[in-house]
Amino acid sequence: MANVLIVGAGIIGLSAAWALRRDGHRVTVLEQGPIPNPVGTSVDQHRLIRRPYGTEVGYMRMITHAFAAWDAMWRDLGVSLLVRTGSLSLSVRDDDRQAESLRLLKDGGFPVEEMDARRLGECYPLIDPRGVRMAYLSPEGGVLLAERIVMALATWLAENGATLRAGAAVEAIDSDLGSVTLAGGERIESDLVLVAAGAWVGRLVPEMTLLVEPSRQVLAYVRLPDDLARAWATHPSLLSIGADHGFYLVPPVMAPDGTQTALKIGDHLFSRVGDAASDPRLPGEAETKAVYELARGRLRDLDRYVLDRGKVCFYTVDSRDGHETFRSVRLGQAAWAMSNCSGHGFKFAACLGEAFADMVAGRRSAGGFTRYAAGEVL
Ligand SMILES: Cc1cc2nc3c(=O)[nH]c(=O)nc-3n(C[C@H](O)[C@H](O)[C@H](O)COP(=O)(O)OP(=O)(O)OC[C@H]3O[C@@H](n4cnc5c(N)ncnc54)[C@H](O)[C@@H]3O)c2cc1C
Repeated sequence: MANVLIVGAGIIGLSAAWALRRDGHRVTVLEQGPIPNPVGTSVDQHRLIRRPYGTEVGYMRMITHAFAAWDAMWRDLGVSLLVRTGSLSLSVRDDDRQAESLRLLKDGGFPVEEMDARRLGECYPLIDPRGVRMAYLSPEGGVLLAERIVMALATWLAENGATLRAGAAVEAIDSDLGSVTLAGGERIESDLVLVAAGAWVGRLVPEMTLLVEPSRQVLAYVRLPDDLARAWATHPSLLSIGADHGFYLVPPVMAPDGTQTALKIGDHLFSRVGDAASDPRLPGEAETKAVYELARGRLRDLDRYVLDRGKVCFYTVDSRDGHETFRSVRLGQAAWAMSNCSGHGFKFAACLGEAFADMVAGRRSAGGFTRYAAGEVL
């Protein structure tokens, strides 16, 4: 059994820790802040899981693995933290991502219900169908209760033999010896280090800055009158993403503890600016409003919605323009860095944690793991 050090207690580090503990490895997770860390990318009310994936056919197929791995995690945690809502894609141009996704969903034989703008308006009265070329429901999607998952995983790990150290900022790693040095000078040795440091990764592993870059993204949280809150509670998520627009909407859903999450609007277009270590997480009013306004013309009666607050959150995106690939890299003899983000990594955390554990156990090759994470092998 290996002794593995994981840097970062976001969903990527914790999911890898979960899969490694299931295989019986010794695991220590080092987190610079509290666990969960509210400025980490994984700590937000929700993240979407969806089957439509543009031209990324590998990730589209990998959703099957993602659901299976989450199910395995729910069995361990004793609770499901996924609310199945389906996802509704709105295509506004015949060359946008929704149109590509539809073609590949149909080729792959995945369930999908197509509709024209008239039927969209009839079936989904909260949506303004004007300007929509065609729409489709993929019934497989849902909302992952992100911060609850991070908390539940951290608790499970602590109860199942892993060591979690909050306030343990790693300052340096020796990727050949498999050791790390904490701020303050403490040195910790292991057989293998996994750097899962999210948008901070470039500070610890400078070579990763050639592959990924931080991208400051703004989210808009919205308050609803009771009738709209009830109507949205059973509504699929919305996606309308193209080369020049990145609108998505996460519906408010009921968590297992009976509390309802908020409705959230986001913009998937990458800003490619910012620094996760120093940028405040409160956006300016005007930029929050600009994200909120993406819903105008897409939702009916937007004037009945109330923009509540904004939040800044960091993507760590593939540096190559036009790519949204996860970059997993072997560093020296005894370390790896995993950057499963590009704005869509949460949904794959459980299955990529399993894939990493498979590699550590020799059930998967190093190259096979990197290609799998990049969505290339299926
Ligand atoms: C606005 C927004 C919307 C998104 N929507 C979706 C979605 O709908 N669906 C989806 O699947 N994904 C989505 N994502 C992407 C998803 O949230 C990320 O892929 C995922 O959370 C990344 O997790 P992580 O563990 O890599 O990073 P993080 O959660 O940021 O964790 C990294 C951790 O490492 C710690 N750390 C960093 N450096 C050090 C150090 N030197 N020493 C110790 N600890 C350190 C940090 O404090 C942090 O806690 C979204 C992201 C954003 C920002």
